Amino acid sequence: MFIGHFGVGLGAKQFAPRVSLGTLLLSAQLVDLLWPVFLLVGLERVRIDPGNTAVTPLDFVLYPYTHSLLACLGWGLLAGLVYFAARRDRRGASVVGLAVVSHWVLDWISHRPDLPLLPGGPKVGLGLWNSVAATVLLEGAIFGLGLALYSRSTRARDRVGGWSLWALVVFLAAGYIGNLLGPPPPSEKALAWVGLAMWLLVPWGYWIDRHRAPATR
Ligand SMILES: [Zn+2]
Repeated sequence: MFIGHFGVGLGAKQFAPRVSLGTLLLSAQLVDLLWPVFLLVGLERVRIDPGNTAVTPLDFVLYPYTHSLLACLGWGLLAGLVYFAARRDRRGASVVGLAVVSHWVLDWISHRPDLPLLPGGPKVGLGLWNSVAATVLLEGAIFGLGLALYSRSTRARDRVGGWSLWALVVFLAAGYIGNLLGPPPPSEKALAWVGLAMWLLVPWGYWIDRHRAPATR
């Protein structure tokens, strides 16, 4: 899943208004942001395999440290604890931890059975990615709902607070469509570097959030 995770990050704001959008996007995408790091150091492996499912040209050969359920629970716990240590906000810390774990649940719906429960298996996955239409429909719905919740629970403080959010939406939608319609990545290395570049979306989230205030009703 791709934009669905961003939908979760956006929508989580409603449940933890004091947590910045940057932190929420980081949480919902944490294991996908760590993944390229593990690929580049050789601890996890992916293979370009056009047709692996209708949606992705990737064969997720090995990713126990980022994408096993056990590891994801561990990352979620760690993220929640770090957030609590920094902000002493129990509600915020719970939402951060849950957002991290939500990633695995959405990936479980999307992937074919290649997601390990424990680092060594067994592997599970409901295979939504076998259908482009069902994927776009579900991901689009999650993203739309998340965006609606975020824009309802915050309001722009200035002009930047308005267009920076919409620029993110356009960027993500364009990236998503490009992924679906474009050619597979030229190499595993190139894929990992593009994955690393996704870290830039985290400061983008902080930037948006700094220009928006909690909505008063
Ligand atoms: Zn993932």
